[in-house]
Order: sequence, then C-alpha cells, then structure tokens
Amino acid sequence: MNFADFGLSPETLETLSQQGYKTPTPIQTKAIPQILQGNDVMAAAQTGTGKTAGFILPIVEKLSQGLPAKSNQARSLVLVPTRELASQVADYAKTYTHNLDLRATVVFGGVKINPQMMKLRKGVDILVATPGRLLDLYQQNAVKFEQLEVLVLDEADRMLDMGFINDISKILAFLPQKRQNLMFSATFSNEIRKLSKVLFNNPVEISVNPQNTTATTVKQWICPVDKKQKPQLLIELIQQHLWDHMLVFTKTKKGANRLTTYLKHSGLKAAAIHGDKSQAIRTKTLADFKKGKVKILVATDVAARGLDIEQLPQVINFDLPTVAEDYVHRIGRTGRAGATGEAISLVSADEFNELKAIERLIKKVLPRKLIDGFEPNHNVPESRLDNRPLKPKKPKKPKKLKAKHPTPEPKSIPKQQDKLKNKSQNGLNLQSRKRPSK
Ligand code: AMP
Repeated sequence: MNFADFGLSPETLETLSQQGYKTPTPIQTKAIPQILQGNDVMAAAQTGTGKTAGFILPIVEKLSQGLPAKSNQARSLVLVPTRELASQVADYAKTYTHNLDLRATVVFGGVKINPQMMKLRKGVDILVATPGRLLDLYQQNAVKFEQLEVLVLDEADRMLDMGFINDISKILAFLPQKRQNLMFSATFSNEIRKLSKVLFNNPVEISVNPQNTTATTVKQWICPVDKKQKPQLLIELIQQHLWDHMLVFTKTKKGANRLTTYLKHSGLKAAAIHGDKSQAIRTKTLADFKKGKVKILVATDVAARGLDIEQLPQVINFDLPTVAEDYVHRIGRTGRAGATGEAISLVSADEFNELKAIERLIKKVLPRKLIDGFEPNHNVPESRLDNRPLKPKKPKKPKKLKAKHPTPEPKSIPKQQDKLKNKSQNGLNLQSRKRPSK
C-alpha cells in the first residue's frame, strides 16, 4: 500500500514525499479510506502511530473540493486537550494546506485572544482548538459553524480525564447536526463508549494497538535505586550510555524544577516544561529542545501529553506515574512510527505499588538492571505479574472552575444537547462537571 493508492491529490503526494513519508502507517491505511468515504470513524490509536496525518490528509482532501470558508466560518474543527498538541496538529495542518488554497489555524488559551479573533475573520478551513478557548471565541461571535463539515476529537480519552466533557457537550450543541465525526483515543474506556453513542452515527471502529499495550519497538527496563540517589544515577546513566536527547518525567512540578536545577549545575543542558510555566516559555522550551539547544526536557505528565518530538531515542521515568495509564502515554514519546526507542524507569522502594500497577496494566514484568555503585539499600521487591482483570477506570474529578473564565450556556439548546443531557442521567454526567481552571 502506498499513499497514491488512496487517490490523494498530486499536491498532497508532493508534500508527503517532501516530508519523507514513504508508506502509510497501519492507522493511516485503515482510517484514510474510511474518512474519504465520509464515514464516522472511532479509532483507538496512541500518539506515535501517525494518527494525526491519518485524519488531516483525508480532511484536506475533502475540503479542497468544497466551497471556500466564509468570514468567521470554520469548515472543520479539531478539538484537542492541550495547547502543545494543538500547536503540533496545526503545524501538520499548515504543512498539508500550504500548497492548496486552504487555511489552517490554531486557537488555545493562555495567550491573547485578539490575534486569534483576527485570524478567524477571513474564515478557516481547518480550525484546531482547545475546548475552553473555543467556547470563549464562540461566545464572542468570533467563530461560527454553519459551514462545518468535519469534527475531530483527538486524544478524546485525555479530554475526558481532564474534565472537558462539559465543554465538549456545549460545543456539540452549537455544531450543525449533519457533519462527519472522527474520534481518536488511546483507549476505548467505558466513558469514551458512552460519548461515542451520542456523537456518532454508526461509526467504523478502527484499532491499531490492543488496549493498553506499549509500542513493541520500545525497549523498556527499570533501575532499582534509593530515592535520594536518583539524580546522580540519572547523570551516571546519561554518561555511561552517551544519551544525548531525552525526555525525563517527574511526578510533580516542584520535582521537575529541582531536577532541572541539579542537572544544570552538573553542566547539562536541561529545561523544565510544566503547567506553571507560561505558554510563551513552554513554546520556546519545546522549540529549543527540538533544535537541540536543550538536551534534556524535564516534564510533568500533563505538559508532556501529545508532544511530538521526532525520533526521541530515550524516555526516562525519574518518578513512576501514580496513574498506571500515564506510563503508557509517557513511553509513547519514544519508538514512534516504527523507530526504536528506550524507556527507562528509576524505581525506589516506595514506588513498588506503582510498579506493580504498571506491570499489571501492560501485562509484563519489566526487566531490571542494577547499576554499580547505585544498588539500593531499600530493596524494591521482585514483582510477579498480577493477571487479575483490571477494573474499569473512573474519570478524575475536574478541578473547580475559576470565576475569571466563565462560559455561559448557549442561548438555545439544539436536539443533540438534549440527547447529551439524557445521557448524563445514564452516568455520563455531562452537565454537572466544570471545566478545569487553566
Ligand atoms: P502522530 O502519531 O500523529 O503523533 O505521529 C507520530 C510521528 O510519526 C510524527 O513524528 C510523524 O511525523 C510521523 N509519521 C506519521 N506518518 C508517518 C509515515 N507515514 N511515515 C513516517 N513517519 C510518519
């Protein structure tokens, strides 16, 4: 199978070859023809599978055939959970629209709204947005959806985990009923299935990764070590293996700052990326990391979600995540689109429960390596695989909404909103949740 077999336009094929994409990834092979045919698609695919091109390419293809966007109208809408993912998806969209007569733009919170309003004035073919800012723009009449043809929910599971369900239901209420719906999610949880029932019309289901398995191209291992020794061990590993460019995960923002300071004092080019950093700093840090000016990016889970950094050879879990699913998301940053990668976790005795939960989720015991001089005094017990089935995950309670960012209800509630309201009585609880504060 190659890209020409999908019947894509010569302009798109040209851009694909400029990007160096030779063959479609499995998700692209499955999703592109379905989307081109106009089907609703519900796809289980993690970041790293090539899912973004899997929906952007057919959307571009379809939009290049219709009427141009009128002022303030959006012809397609891609909703994503984080600002970083929004920028990355928009970069993709811009790459594939630049030699066609189509416009792609991105809107997210944490930056001024006026420039975003200006960009929307001429109308836009592909609008990539985080839910909160999109609602703000809609309330101010800066964006309209009479011409909307396609809606994409990207990383839908994460959007639900982050408490965006209420925002999503408000957004669905002002979109035209007749549209194509696409949903991409790392897993199909019960919550996702409930959302799909109100969103879709007979969706085609696509899956390229069995639920909660990690990419096979990722070599995973753990280093048992005492907590206090972790920073020195990290430096030892970097020097031993000559690691050059890596993403390091910490549990907390404070921990990320502390480790970054330590690494910098040791002469390493490190920078932290987390929710307390301004959007401008986060964007610059990511750009510096991509250019190689920063070699070690220290991140918390939310900040790192969806970061697209090409061929990242190493991902290091300085702390294990408290939520086992985050391990799968974290190591999705390496071994992407067929490239091989390595995921190393520094595990101290107090993290044994987290380790067991991860191994149970990914259904394998992670191999261990003891590093000379760093053998722990506090033993990390040998783990045995727990084969009991996992209980369905409950979504996290979103944080309370801060008054500074109100999102009034739309004036009239169309049919779909009613459908959603009914669903909430069946356990989806679409109306009672508040958007998390930014
Ligand atoms: P995604 O899952 O969309 O975040 O994509 C993961 C990475 O795979 C990105 O760096 C893409 O540039 C890359 N990629 C996507 N499709 C292909 C392809 N067909 N061939 C090679 N690389 C790809």
